[in-house]
Amino acid sequence: MNYNSMTREQLSALYTQLQAKYDEACAKGLSLDLSRGKPCAEQLNLSDAILTCVNKRSETKGVKGFDYRNYGILDGIPEAKALFSQLLNIPENRLIVAGNSSLNLMYDALSRAMLYGVVGSERPWCREQKVKFLCPSPGYDRHFAVTESLGFELIPVKMTATGPDMNEVEALVSADAEIKGIWCCPKYSNPDGITYSDETVERLASMKTAAPDFRIMWDNAYCIHDLYPDEPDVLADIFEAAERHGHIDRVFYFASTSKITHPGAGVAVLAASEANIKQILKIMGIQTIGFDKLNQLRHVNYFGSAENVMKHMRAHAEIIRPRFERVEQILDEELTETGVATWTHPRGGYFISFFAQKGTAKRIYQLCRDAGVVLTNVGATYPYGNDPDDSNIRIAPTYPSFEQMEAATYILTLCTKLAAVEQLLNQ
Ligand code: PLP
Repeated sequence: MNYNSMTREQLSALYTQLQAKYDEACAKGLSLDLSRGKPCAEQLNLSDAILTCVNKRSETKGVKGFDYRNYGILDGIPEAKALFSQLLNIPENRLIVAGNSSLNLMYDALSRAMLYGVVGSERPWCREQKVKFLCPSPGYDRHFAVTESLGFELIPVKMTATGPDMNEVEALVSADAEIKGIWCCPKYSNPDGITYSDETVERLASMKTAAPDFRIMWDNAYCIHDLYPDEPDVLADIFEAAERHGHIDRVFYFASTSKITHPGAGVAVLAASEANIKQILKIMGIQTIGFDKLNQLRHVNYFGSAENVMKHMRAHAEIIRPRFERVEQILDEELTETGVATWTHPRGGYFISFFAQKGTAKRIYQLCRDAGVVLTNVGATYPYGNDPDDSNIRIAPTYPSFEQMEAATYILTLCTKLAAVEQLLNQ
């Protein structure tokens, strides 16, 4: 029965029941965690052969005779550029294959913008009166943290089922030259699992911006992370659209193998227009002599082709799809008829985005914590950690064991019900 249509007496009886169940759960002394958006060990094991696939001196020579044990080749080894070019459908001259982290590349891209400006800037961004950045929310907390730590003002923009609310985005960026960019996780977004529609991509690429040096931070972290590889979501090509509209310099594109091979020991890429790449390499060349080419080579040797990377992603999907399906099944069985929560139905990526009855997420977090279940910090998916509805909770089903994931999800549903009933009784 929908909780919102219950009488006070019914709610009181329900509260007693739920509280008893909750006390039982607390007495179990559980220690569970639904917060970590990391691959589980079984997924990591898929890539173990990468640890040993360059193990002799004779294997460290590149296609052009270059010895990858040595310094050099700032923009990445040609074999890796060819692989990522095929995989991402981006020409090699627009690619830099770099170190182990795309987040690091994003941080550096915006730090460079602050210190030097970007192609099209009138001055370094740090010399502007103010820099503002659009943050589609819910979104990835680490994106927001990068721009917050650089002193930008974060402007939340509502996420819709087709991506950021483009009416809001267009109105904001056309009127305010202090808005220098927008964060985007365009495929299987973190945390909603939404893939931007063709129209959203087109509008982002074509929109008029008051800032001449506006940048789209296109973090395609989940570009090939399909849970249903036979029917993947298809994301429109942002470079094609931006080029057609004369805005090719607008896009900074990022991806990595963090959730393909081993997070923290993978390979990250940055893609951008030739003019951007030229400016970036010039500054990057001051910062480093080059990235870890042997790790790039390991990735090339291990996969051999883009086709094999896609096969490998199927193996990931086999491991994690049942988890997503089970979480959704539990949520559905426990919560649908109560009317006190909704959640997204991602077809890829790493998260399910859960929306509890407004004003109850913080309370759910506390209740879960006291019952031994760790959730992602409530509010983390919004700029400054402030969810105006106090409703969103990010669920990460990949890391715990299947049984722990199930147990934690049941506790989450119990706490969601309890918090909702408490709120209704307090009205
Ligand atoms: N971008 C998004 C959207 C993520 O969810 C994550 C990790 O969870 C990252 C980037 C981190 O990527 P990397 O390991 O390449 O730094």
